[in-house]
Amino acid sequence: MSNSILVVGGGFSGITAALEAAEVGYEVFIVEKGPYLGGRVAQLNKYFPKLCPPSCGLEIQFQRIKKNPNVKFFTLAEVTSVSGSAGNYTVKVKIKPRYVGPAGADLHELAQELSADVPNPFEFGLSNRKALYMDVPFAFPYRYVLDRDKLTRDDENLLAKSIYLDLNDTEREIELTVGSIVLATGWKPYDVTNLSNLGAGSVADCISNMQMERLAAASGPTGGQIVRPSDGKAPKSVAFVQCAGSRDQNHLNYCSYICCMASLKQARYVREQYPDAKVTIFYIDLRTPERYQKFAQVTLADDGITAVKGKVAAVEQGAGQVLVTVEDAVRGAKYQQGFDLVVLATGMQPSLAGEKTPFGAMVDEDGFVIAGAEQGIFAAGCAKKPLDVMKSAQSATGAALKAIQTVRGR
Ligand code: SF4
Repeated sequence: MSNSILVVGGGFSGITAALEAAEVGYEVFIVEKGPYLGGRVAQLNKYFPKLCPPSCGLEIQFQRIKKNPNVKFFTLAEVTSVSGSAGNYTVKVKIKPRYVGPAGADLHELAQELSADVPNPFEFGLSNRKALYMDVPFAFPYRYVLDRDKLTRDDENLLAKSIYLDLNDTEREIELTVGSIVLATGWKPYDVTNLSNLGAGSVADCISNMQMERLAAASGPTGGQIVRPSDGKAPKSVAFVQCAGSRDQNHLNYCSYICCMASLKQARYVREQYPDAKVTIFYIDLRTPERYQKFAQVTLADDGITAVKGKVAAVEQGAGQVLVTVEDAVRGAKYQQGFDLVVLATGMQPSLAGEKTPFGAMVDEDGFVIAGAEQGIFAAGCAKKPLDVMKSAQSATGAALKAIQTVRGR
């Protein structure tokens, strides 16, 4: 029997579950696929309920991890196999090479000398980066990472001279013995290019809500200026298209829970930055649960924000503007209106959707984890269902408790 707990995923839920267990004395291993901890929250400009910047909550969590020897974490790491049963799992983990040593050196200048620019997934295609990068704000661990496959021969020769890099670094595999597993594998934004009628991927000034977060973030590609990707100009009119991919049997067959609140929040971003700009939110239902109802009321009391109940049928490129065709449910009319910028309120899809996992068939048809107590494996946060950050933390705390009960044999 093992008293240790494995947490798969190093986003807000995974970190919370790990700390809750570690701080009452259990050894916890976090296995994170990406180069840094923090997950999706690190990509937001502000998050509910207090509209804090992500540094606010995450930096406190990172400090707690640094101070707690019970937490060990592996980045660029993936679980490749799980065997055994509750109380005694053997877990194999593959760790990709980082090529950068443990010293937290600032390699910005060296990175700028590299010739190749590569797409930056952290910015959702809004900017490029160098193959040697640390583009996550307040990165933890504070270490660069090298995308070696993207180097040219000249770049390789340049980096080979640096004492901070090890180009001979190799992939390795470790084995962990744990009594319980928390799956905090998180979510991914629904692929907007599946929504071809809504202009995704073909209309430059039609962006996703996560792209909007990056535009509004001071650490983002425009330094926090919300501008049109096509020409860098400030938008005078912005439309939000709700349920873009969610509640649709051809895409996500469920409500993504967070995207109504995300659009209301982002409408405020626009109005705070451009007091003369007009915002229109096209919705089917505005879902603002519990305490968020008040936030919605205050936001919609703004004269510059209009909510129109109606389904958007099409988003197309017009002459200098983006054309939105809507079936207005109240007026019973179909009409077209031009906007400078359109934001698709794209939904939340579990990261495991469409993926083969080493945990067996423990996901439902949408990719949400349905692991049960009898297995000693528990889901936390958005791996289980669409949630906001606050509810993800509550879910993670519950999962940590179940994991502790498993390793204690209760
Ligand atoms: Fe649609 Fe709002 Fe539900 Fe998102 S939260 S799927 S926008 S109803």
